[in-house]
Amino acid sequence: MKYVSTRSKITPVNSAEAILQGLAADGGLFVPEKIPKASIEEIGQLGGKTYEQRAAWLLGKFLTDYTEDELGECTELAYNWFDVPARVPVMILIQDPNNPIAPVGAMELWHGPTSAFKDVALQMLPHLMRMALQKVGETKQILILVATSGDTGKAALAGFADVPQTKIMVFYPDDGVSKMQKLQMITQPGDNVNVTAVRGNFDDAQNGVKKIFGDKKIRDELDKLGVKLSSANSINWGRLVPQIAYYFSGYVELIQSKQITLGDKINICVPTGNFGNILAAYYALKMGLPVKKLICASNDNNVLTEFFATGIYNRNRKFFKTISPSMDILISSNLERLLYHESGNDFRLVNRYMSELNSVGKYTVDKKIKTRLDKIFHGEYVTEDETRDYIKRIYGSFKYLMDTHTAVAVCALSKYRGKTKDLIPVLCASTASPYKFTGAVLTALEQNIDGLDNFAQIKRLNDMTNFKVPKNLLALSKAKILHEDVCDKDEMAQRVLDFAAK
Ligand SMILES: *Cc1c(COP(=O)(O)O)cnc(C)c1O
Repeated sequence: MKYVSTRSKITPVNSAEAILQGLAADGGLFVPEKIPKASIEEIGQLGGKTYEQRAAWLLGKFLTDYTEDELGECTELAYNWFDVPARVPVMILIQDPNNPIAPVGAMELWHGPTSAFKDVALQMLPHLMRMALQKVGETKQILILVATSGDTGKAALAGFADVPQTKIMVFYPDDGVSKMQKLQMITQPGDNVNVTAVRGNFDDAQNGVKKIFGDKKIRDELDKLGVKLSSANSINWGRLVPQIAYYFSGYVELIQSKQITLGDKINICVPTGNFGNILAAYYALKMGLPVKKLICASNDNNVLTEFFATGIYNRNRKFFKTISPSMDILISSNLERLLYHESGNDFRLVNRYMSELNSVGKYTVDKKIKTRLDKIFHGEYVTEDETRDYIKRIYGSFKYLMDTHTAVAVCALSKYRGKTKDLIPVLCASTASPYKFTGAVLTALEQNIDGLDNFAQIKRLNDMTNFKVPKNLLALSKAKILHEDVCDKDEMAQRVLDFAAK
């Protein structure tokens, strides 16, 4: 299988090259030339397999230049230390006695080392990259540079720590991340990791990293040191493809818990930010997973809800900081891949939309695309009050504790069902442990959190609900601080060179 760009006609590349390059040279995203198929028989056979085996099967459909053994090794290394045997378990949480056909399975994507769904992909990407280096005969070391506003930094650190032939360096804004997120990062062990605070805000850190990527002089110096820069952000194909696997696995879990039988259609509901997670569900649907609708859930930053309702994508709007911060995004980068596929691979059209987005912050898709999107997608958004209300309600009814992002999805689903009366079973992505957003969850449960630090909040929530606390978060209270470096934004490049030379 070969990969092409969403923005122009390029010579197709294999998956190892697409993963190493991250972004195509024309600024477009890599997409598979043709979406592979999965038959109902194949899906049925996944039932007897472990999560690792299911994932290896899925990766084999797309990453045809990797051997079966290599993919088996990748999935073992990525998932063997997720903290439950199922890796990505599905909890059946809504089974209305009046509506026995309308269950909702919460697919828990947060049993990895940082307790958020980005682990599923970021535990895998470093191994795909390491093998890609061997495949293309690259002997240089890869240095992953990340600017983070919180979750991605820790997940990337945890994924790349001690992976051969790689180094990882994370810059975070000195006072722009939560205390817990900072603690997660500055306690990260590993011989190939560096974490540095930047005096300034997230934009300062991000612009600093972008500048380094664009600076030929730095690249030349790194080249002399035998180091090549790369990025681990969510438009890399190697981050997207591991996410397709869990939709197949989740479907099989619904069969095993007798909610559906093989071949039945389900809906999928996803709390969405950069459009990576729900795009993976779209690929699963296109491959042949029996899915009727994809429900795209947003918070007050509802640019996608408007897009699916009107066909107009308009980023010129107020930006809200919400209690579901990983969805506070106005440019959903991965949407570009959807437009490419649903326009019938029309890279000229995609190019036009993306340059309009760049110049005037807005584009309108043509009628044909809009009609096709209407068949597959439904967008809903959820306010802050509704989010809190759903955490409380679902806990009250089912003793199931949701984080703020998952609550956005479950509430959006309920709105969708109310409007359409479409009550078929649903797989709903649960994207973070409630203990990652303890303050907001306690507030939703009407607890007073004044004067409680993070660990006291965790204890309060645990005393109250008995819901299991992830070990990695508990361990932080005793973890050794390993990274205390702080720099100005114009010192970032030198820090990179120093770390590369180490
Ligand atoms: C990143 C993230 C999301 C959004 O996922 P996208 O793939 O960017 O749409 C939702 N919830 C949590 C907890 C996240 O970390």
